[in-house]
Amino acid sequence: MELYHEITPEGFGIAIEEDKHLFSDKSPYQTVDVFHSRAFGNVLTLDGLMMVTERDEFFYHELIVHIPMLTHKNPENILVIGGGDGGTVREILKHKSVKHIDMVEIDKMVVDVSKKFFPTVSNELDNPKVSVLIQDAIEFIKNKENIYDIVLIDSTDPIGPGEGLFNEGFYNNVKRALKKGGIVVPQTEGPFGQSDNMKKTYKLLNKVFKYVAPYCSPMPTYPGGYWSWGFCSNDVEPPLDYTKIDEKRADEISKTSKIYNREYHSSVFRVPNFVKELAKG
Ligand code: SAM
Repeated sequence: MELYHEITPEGFGIAIEEDKHLFSDKSPYQTVDVFHSRAFGNVLTLDGLMMVTERDEFFYHELIVHIPMLTHKNPENILVIGGGDGGTVREILKHKSVKHIDMVEIDKMVVDVSKKFFPTVSNELDNPKVSVLIQDAIEFIKNKENIYDIVLIDSTDPIGPGEGLFNEGFYNNVKRALKKGGIVVPQTEGPFGQSDNMKKTYKLLNKVFKYVAPYCSPMPTYPGGYWSWGFCSNDVEPPLDYTKIDEKRADEISKTSKIYNREYHSSVFRVPNFVKELAKG
């Protein structure tokens, strides 16, 4: 029995029993692996780091999508940066207001492998409302202005191809690509396992956006089992009061969600003191 393990920069991590290694190859950007496990089903890793498992992916995708989508009054035009597994796109398409999604993923191999080994995650990537653009998002975003209602940065960690996605210049370009009332949510790493990455990220976000608020939720297979996302906007305040969230829309989404419900929407912003410290940047 092989044992997959990931150790965080802080010296601890996770281990998963691997039944069968299903895929391994090097793309121009990273090493892509897929293995099957009794505990989590199929598992995708990039450069040996955990990305997606069939069993717990909803913990991540429901949080990066439904918090900003249901806070925005009428989200139509959406940009996903990274997200090659398709889980973020799948959740966005649950929102009836969506007219179009651009998903800008640098690595075609991640998309192809996700279509083959993660059918319940990648099942909406061929939806006619979705454009899958295989390119570096750092270049893609440079000439975009006033286009998107929501930008979701579903990236890898700030290393390799993902490093430039945790950068002040990049965040300023994302800000310019937003329409009035627009919201940006980057994944902002694990408060307990990657606290340095998180602190550096909020230092940049606080420089670029008027409103910045971390929200956190459990994520079983990510370092520390606890993850964070940053609610960022220049016009929209973080949704600390769930009674302001559109009840009908929220309840509609909650029906097909395993985590998301309206009360949970604002509770995830009630973060512990050590997270508040990290988010001061
Ligand atoms: N949810 C996962 C996490 O939080 O670790 C991320 C999932 S998704 C697979 C991350 C994607 O970001 C990868 O497929 C990777 O290829 C893509 N990516 C990394 N750097 C990129 C860049 N500069 N432009 C576009 N996509 C990028």
